[in-house]
Amino acid sequence: MWESMGVEVVYLSHDVFYKHFAGARHIERPERLRAVEEGVTRSGLDIQAVVPHPADRAALLAVHDQNYIDALREFCLSGGGSIDSDTHAVTETWEASIRAAGSGLTAIPLLGGGGVAMAAVRPPGHHATANRAMGFCFLNNVAVAVAHLRGQGRKVAVVDWDVHHGNGTQEMFGDDPDVLYVSIHQAPFYPLTGHIEDIDLGEGTIVNLPVPIGTGGDLYRRAFSELIEPIITQFRPDWLLISAGYDAHVSDPLGGLRLVAADYGHMSARLRELLPEVPAIVFLEGGYDLEALASGVDATLRGLGGVEQFSDEADGATSPDAAFRALEVAKEYAARFWSL
Ligand SMILES: [Zn+2]
Repeated sequence: MWESMGVEVVYLSHDVFYKHFAGARHIERPERLRAVEEGVTRSGLDIQAVVPHPADRAALLAVHDQNYIDALREFCLSGGGSIDSDTHAVTETWEASIRAAGSGLTAIPLLGGGGVAMAAVRPPGHHATANRAMGFCFLNNVAVAVAHLRGQGRKVAVVDWDVHHGNGTQEMFGDDPDVLYVSIHQAPFYPLTGHIEDIDLGEGTIVNLPVPIGTGGDLYRRAFSELIEPIITQFRPDWLLISAGYDAHVSDPLGGLRLVAADYGHMSARLRELLPEVPAIVFLEGGYDLEALASGVDATLRGLGGVEQFSDEADGATSPDAAFRALEVAKEYAARFWSL
């Protein structure tokens, strides 16, 4: 049965995350958190359950506009409603949002070298911009943590493997040379941002790899070994933050990619091997198939916890040629900033 492996995961969760309710038929639903919890348990890591404290106003102001914060609070506390066709709030969305945004801040002082935290939060965050809620996101959870770490002079790598591009995060830190933002995402797809050429907006620190529908773990492995791993090694982050959506999983009802749980394990294990002493925080973003969420979180934590090696061979995936062509283009652009 359950067997501890001596590696601990700081697990950030709160009842209020279940109370953000986006609508009866909305796929971004509270049950997703139970699946994440199941994944954490399955991983066999020791669990240190921690209550995330709300991000305070100063922490939010580091990435969001004052008027936006005030308007969002007022909107939620007066009962909520629809912000756009797929982003809906209820009263509890405010407290859920500020605790989700505070989860990274709560985890940071608890993590030493090589430590791992899982922020099992709703609503997700990576689409939220400085002044706009969109794509199920209200406050940018990972960005609040990035800003805090930057305030401490730390270099931060954000790896975003959600099937969607994290437009909000890129927009907030694209011009900071001490924040590396890496995203593999389906394209063309919501929110239609995340181009390879964006690398020219920063100092090589915006690394986007848009891939076509049908792309799977074979391409992700090659992208890691030929593009992402060399860049992360040269960037030398002090912290690793993962925008962990599981909607690139083959079972996901929204995404069109073909990852399996072992692919998340492989990416995590590679990151751990490259950055053995770097603390890592995993932020839940998207992912709408419950078993994909559970198995993906399980594999992520075993990979990051260093308790399992995952095969270098993808499980039968054969990505479209266009995915490999996109990788070659991304490598050409990146080679102007990094040794690949
Ligand atoms: Zn997503």
